Amino acid sequence: MTLKFCPKCKTLLSPQEIKGKFFLKCSVCNFLKELKQKESLISIEKIKSKEEKGKGFVNEGNSFATYNNKCKKCGYGKAQVLDMGIFYSDEDNLILLKCGRCGFSERIGRKTS
Ligand SMILES: [Zn+2]
Ligand SMILES: [Zn+2]
Repeated sequence: MTLKFCPKCKTLLSPQEIKGKFFLKCSVCNFLKELKQKESLISIEKIKSKEEKGKGFVNEGNSFATYNNKCKKCGYGKAQVLDMGIFYSDEDNLILLKCGRCGFSERIGRKTS
């Protein structure tokens, strides 16, 4: 299975592009998983679009919008995960879900369950 959550602390991993390579990064424990090829991201996309099947969403615009989140503003089903922990490292982990269509950002905290 493709990793989406950190195996160590179960934090949502953020896809990141570093020097042309793709990674999934955990902002809490800095777990970093390199995606060997771009296809890895595409395969995430495929898994996601399977889940979305039948809803009629077309993947358009933001190619980082791979996270399943229904936009409160326009109803689009994909959002980009923006990890604000990079900028506010001392704060509690902060994640923004940015709508892949209209850019509406929804703020979510770390899931502590
Ligand atoms: Zn972690
Ligand atoms: Zn939207």
